Amino acid sequence: MVVQLPDNLMVSVSGVRGRVGDPLTPELVGAIAAAFGGFLRARERRGSVYVGRDSRTSGPMFQRAVTAGLQSVGVDVVDLGVVPTPTVLLAVEEAGAAGGLAVTASHNPPEWNALKLISGEGMFLDAEEAATFRDFLAGEDPPRASWDELGAVREDSEAWARHRERILALDYVDAEAIAAHGLRVALDCVHGAGGPPLADLLRALGVSFRGMGMEPDGLFPRDPEPTAANLAGLGEWVREVGAGVGMAVDPDADRLSLVDETGVAVGEDLTLALAAAAVLRRTPGVVVTNLSTSRVVEDVAEAFGSRVVRTPVGEVNVARRMQAEAAVVGGEGNGGVILPALHYTRDAPLAVALILQHLADEGTFLSEAVARWPRYVIRKEKIRFPREALSEAFDALREDMRGATADETDGLRLDWPGRRSWLHVRASGTEPVVRIIAEAPESKAADALLRRTADLLEGVA
Ligand code: MG
Repeated sequence: MVVQLPDNLMVSVSGVRGRVGDPLTPELVGAIAAAFGGFLRARERRGSVYVGRDSRTSGPMFQRAVTAGLQSVGVDVVDLGVVPTPTVLLAVEEAGAAGGLAVTASHNPPEWNALKLISGEGMFLDAEEAATFRDFLAGEDPPRASWDELGAVREDSEAWARHRERILALDYVDAEAIAAHGLRVALDCVHGAGGPPLADLLRALGVSFRGMGMEPDGLFPRDPEPTAANLAGLGEWVREVGAGVGMAVDPDADRLSLVDETGVAVGEDLTLALAAAAVLRRTPGVVVTNLSTSRVVEDVAEAFGSRVVRTPVGEVNVARRMQAEAAVVGGEGNGGVILPALHYTRDAPLAVALILQHLADEGTFLSEAVARWPRYVIRKEKIRFPREALSEAFDALREDMRGATADETDGLRLDWPGRRSWLHVRASGTEPVVRIIAEAPESKAADALLRRTADLLEGVA
């Protein structure tokens, strides 16, 4: 029987996502995992599949379903337990495994869960690989193993420890200098998978810290996405414990967001900018980020004699381009930092180390490190818009906003380098909406750009 995907299941390049119970059931998850195992075998990928999860209450149930599905097609499973998503990807790559599966809905609320599919390279499937897998899923019923060929299961509780040692061994991380800087950290892990590993990392770096939400029980006390608007509690915590920097990660610990010592969230775009500074100061080179990320990344790159290359939105798009450009660092404006010297995926524990290194290099608190760079105001809005009217809308925008450089590799991005402003309009992959992102040095200009764009789109729709 081939797998029928329910209509309300969100299917994207990196995997499938849905609410627990409807449409996401253990039956469905087990069937997808069996198909993934069959898919890897059909492509001659021998070896085990590594499975890890975040801290959601539905995680143990879905991880068992995934494991059963893989065993049923004769694939051995290595169970990593509750770990950051980047730890799963690193474990796959280091072991030369057939592939991996992360059971995590990332920054989504606790009623969601998802499967993220990982190739043997230790990267998420790219668009081409994902399309091949979807075809396989729709067309093939993978052969089930007989009783004497079922997959075996082995536990590996050392994956995080290996990940930590790889971070500490990086040329970009000088633990002695970080400890000597003596900055206290306030940490918010929102009851996700990041709590125990990040506490362990900070101890290994000799950094004094006070954590909140450190228990990985999946009972998120707030919207777990680490956007500035969700970090008021961490802001208070920073002031209460007298920290020099506040750090928040999402439930699967691939994104890091920062709060300064006065309790102000500085915006997720600064994470990549400051982490990149720590890398480029030592190794100038190409920085890759997506079209929706703040210009401040360009300011940082220029200061260190480096340049920025932009890609369509989506982690694997950034990662693939980083490989093609031999980039030294990259990532996304949502707090995702990618360092090829470690691996090609967003990694919040890595970002924690790089940010602390940068603050040690500069000998400052966060607010001073941020104040060195130009300030921008970034505005984001989502509006309902029919997909079929998009090209007409883009024509209208280009016509109205002359003098801009246009990039059409992912929706439409208009850039005014002289005004230090840009606009990015792109359709959502899953809903009939477009996202508008506008950035300018002043809030008035950013607001005006956003309003003008929304009005133009409404005129076309
Ligand atoms: Mg995440």
